[in-house]
Amino acid sequence: TTRVIESLALSRRPVRLPVALDHAAYDVVIGTNLISRAGALLAPVLPQKKVIIITDETVAALYLPALEDSLRETGIAFRALTVPPGEQSKSLKTYEHLVDAILEEGVERRTTIIALGGGVVGDLAGFVAASTLRGLPFVQIPTTLLSQVDSSVGGKTGINTRWGKNLLGAFHQPLCVLADVSALSTLPQRELIAGYAEIVKSGLIGDPELFAWCEKNGDSVLAADPDTLTEAVRQACAFKARVVAADEREAQASGGRALLNLGHTFGHALEAELGYDGRLLHGEGVSIGLKLAFALSVKLGVCAPEDLARVEAHLRALKMPASIGDLPYCFRVADLMAHMQRDKKMQDGRLSFVLAHGIGKAFTSRDVPAEMVRDVLIEDGCKP
Ligand code: NAD
Ligand code: MG
Repeated sequence: TTRVIESLALSRRPVRLPVALDHAAYDVVIGTNLISRAGALLAPVLPQKKVIIITDETVAALYLPALEDSLRETGIAFRALTVPPGEQSKSLKTYEHLVDAILEEGVERRTTIIALGGGVVGDLAGFVAASTLRGLPFVQIPTTLLSQVDSSVGGKTGINTRWGKNLLGAFHQPLCVLADVSALSTLPQRELIAGYAEIVKSGLIGDPELFAWCEKNGDSVLAADPDTLTEAVRQACAFKARVVAADEREAQASGGRALLNLGHTFGHALEAELGYDGRLLHGEGVSIGLKLAFALSVKLGVCAPEDLARVEAHLRALKMPASIGDLPYCFRVADLMAHMQRDKKMQDGRLSFVLAHGIGKAFTSRDVPAEMVRDVLIEDGCKP
């Protein structure tokens, strides 16, 4: 108890960010030492004092005991289910295993599923919650920077199939998100950088003040300074919540949620070419993809070269991946083009892309000549 009281004294009041959607409203709570206070923070929103925690082995070893202690203190009954860490767990097999365990437990409609972990656990547990008994209440406790700023906001849940990533899923909004930045102290530096790339992306899409803030504070974010992290997560979540509120189900043909894919067409091609084997994290691909999206925009004459220079300077200042040529792997332009064409259904030699008129001014275009994309890739270090 003394340890808990000390940590309470050390932690600042959490920041509450309200997310308002057509059929759901909830808070993203951001701050330090939230996992050890989760019972008290969640008690007001839980429909029943019973929860099922879904987590992965790595996160369970680090944070499950603190979560369980805090639930116990507030009289919330729980059962924890643990899956192996990694993308492999977003599978039908793991999904079936979890649903079986939950039904065997005798779950009721008001029992809440808590996701404790990164985006893998959030997507998987969210889909279990969305589909079991046609929908159980759901809480996210994201423990990676990527899941705190990206996957835990917006309600997309899902798993992978043999036909591709995220092909089986549902929109399912949480009751509450607890983003505990203290948990990021144990995150490997590469994972921190990968999550940070999505924050930079938010600024580049539509929040120039956020990008300017990143230029000033990015080094403290990557040093995992708790106050700076709290502010970074708040700004990035606020940005994503605004975009999602305007286009909850990605129904808009242009703009809207589609803008969140800035840098992702290039990033996905790099990831796909390496076979999603962990050599390149998603956010590392996005980091390079952001630079390439600006390079393409400059080549198309819609963006000033100074803005591209600013993007690249920021990535390089923080030692983030910024060029295909930086990677210790060899990419061939034809292979990357093939991935992008598959990804985006090329029409008449033209591709869909998120481009930018400048920092904070992203837009969608379906009219990008494949030739220009090829040139940008080769200039960045891809083999012709
Ligand atoms: P992840 O969940 O695999 O976590 C990365 C690694 O970090 C794992 O090994 C995990 O065990 C470990 N880890 C987690 N928290 C830790 C901590 N605090 N300390 C130490 N280690 C920790 O990966 P991720 O990057 O968080 O999420 C990627 C997933 O998110 C992908 O499956 C992607 O499709 C999905 N995603 C979903 C959305 C959405 O809108 N639903 C958006 C973006 C990404
Ligand atoms: Mg992403």
